[in-house]
Amino acid sequence: MIHPEHQRRAYLQAMGIDVWLPRDAVEPGDAPLAAVGTAGAEELDWDELRQCVADCTRCELSKSRRQTVFGTGNPSADWMIIGEAPGAEEDRRGEPFVGRAGTMLDEMLRAIGHSRDSVFIANTIKCRPPDNRDPKSAEAAACRDYLQRQIALVQPKIILAVGKIAAQNLLGCDDPVGAMRGKAHDHGGIPLVVTYHPAYLLRSPSQKRKAWSDLCLAARLSVEGAA
Ligand code: URA
Repeated sequence: MIHPEHQRRAYLQAMGIDVWLPRDAVEPGDAPLAAVGTAGAEELDWDELRQCVADCTRCELSKSRRQTVFGTGNPSADWMIIGEAPGAEEDRRGEPFVGRAGTMLDEMLRAIGHSRDSVFIANTIKCRPPDNRDPKSAEAAACRDYLQRQIALVQPKIILAVGKIAAQNLLGCDDPVGAMRGKAHDHGGIPLVVTYHPAYLLRSPSQKRKAWSDLCLAARLSVEGAA
């Protein structure tokens, strides 16, 4: 008998939709992965998850952060926006995307008829990496089940991954943004679109046209679904 997950992937692939698996995904029929010491968030409700993140000491970033940045917005949003990691301003205020990149993200959302209250915004990791360096893969792995639980609780109709770090972590690959954007991906049954990070668009405004086309694709998939 064909495993239903294999059937679903074959169907998505036949529709021209790229199917990626998270880095630590277990293939149907695989032996279970050994416990990695980060399990535990998958049954938490919003309050429990928020507290668990606030108390987290799973990685070194807990020592240098001012506070965790959990995420913000509508907990039952159709759109979930996932960025990289908190910066200095986010670390101070405890809210994602509040600096210049945040203003740019607000503009992108407004262009497609949304606001930061109508979507849910989260980051791949919940603590600020020192000097705004890229998160290390161990840090992203330590935080992964928090983000996965947020996705499971929101149950968005579309995930918009902004920037390389978010996209690579969600899709389990090392591709550049240019190769990931402009098409529909699948994240555990939820359509996912990759676009440029708002901070990159501030530096490279000529890429805004491509970001707009990614937003239009996301809007279409949020209505039609991936399959
Ligand atoms: N602020 C965030 O919260 N996330 C980013 O990816 C960038 C800035």
